[in-house]
Amino acid sequence: MEQDCIFCKIVNKELPCYKVYEDDFVLAFLDVNPVSLGHTLVIPKKHYENIFDIDGETFKKIAEVSRIIALKMVNNLDGVLGVNVFQSNGRVAEQVVMHSHTHLIPRREDDSFRINDALRSFKLEDNQFKSILEKIKI
Ligand SMILES: [Zn+2]
Repeated sequence: MEQDCIFCKIVNKELPCYKVYEDDFVLAFLDVNPVSLGHTLVIPKKHYENIFDIDGETFKKIAEVSRIIALKMVNNLDGVLGVNVFQSNGRVAEQVVMHSHTHLIPRREDDSFRINDALRSFKLEDNQFKSILEKIKI
């Protein structure tokens, strides 16, 4: 529990939430500032800042809960035909609440959320691709 962490306060029931799912490790709840109807956050109950300090087992649990909720969204929410799943990790990645969270954003044919606006690509040379590979290939 981090002092002044809004998500820790939700985990500890000091703040209310619209709970979608809870177990011993994971909590999922509706984002109170949704970008689409049904926008949900999936968080570890223990305070991890982001992908850089979370443990692998907890990360897997979050992925599995996210998968199951995404299925519920496409099966049960009106007009939902797809779901964006993403995280922001680190302030430079525009992470605002520094408690790891995964966004599940249900998508409808005519919604206003535009993920591809953020995914504009640029050209790289072969040597640039290879230089990156040397550093991050596992
Ligand atoms: Zn926290």
